Amino acid sequence: MINIILFGPPGSGKGTQSRIISDIFGFIHLSTGEILRKYILKKNYMVDKIKSYIDNGLLVPDTITKNIFEKELIYRNNFLNKGFIYDGYPRTLNQAISLDNFLKKNYIGKINYVFFFILKDNFVVDRLYQRSKTSGRSDDKNINIIKNRIIQYDTMSKDIFKYYKQRTFLTEIDANKKIEEITDELKNIIYKLK
Ligand code: AMP
Repeated sequence: MINIILFGPPGSGKGTQSRIISDIFGFIHLSTGEILRKYILKKNYMVDKIKSYIDNGLLVPDTITKNIFEKELIYRNNFLNKGFIYDGYPRTLNQAISLDNFLKKNYIGKINYVFFFILKDNFVVDRLYQRSKTSGRSDDKNINIIKNRIIQYDTMSKDIFKYYKQRTFLTEIDANKKIEEITDELKNIIYKLK
């Protein structure tokens, strides 16, 4: 089982690449943003609280996110698949440590590779604003909310970088390149992992 993390600021193309790569390699794509948004639609426990974090561009607290994410991972692990792509998870050091333990405890393997997407803040703002026209996501179009998301990202990213740099393989990806170019970069590395 291969486990790959795509880490990067919002709007850096992690979701797009995750979908392409999962299709090519037969991986399951796990996006915590999508998982949380679906959870809210089901009118589940604590949805109002979760929604207010997302709507304000703040991270949902670790205990809540971890719980929802781990349940989804275990459920999806019942299906035949060659690996997982983690998109938007982990986003805190605490989540990263828990994920390592969780994979081990459930015999899902270990993190084989981390792709660290790099994109300057002004590009993040532009891209999210453009995306809001089709995504309909309210957290993509309000400049203050976007700024909050960038701050949240900047606060956590250095620790996450350091954590994985010491433990696994990590490559920085220039998120300004064309979609196809980035896919090729990822593909060339992932082929070698198989
Ligand atoms: P995304 O779709 O990845 O841009 O995530 C949308 C929002 O969901 C984020 O701004 C957070 O509020 C929340 N979220 C997604 N992933 C996480 C995570 N790993 N930890 C905490 N909150 C998250």
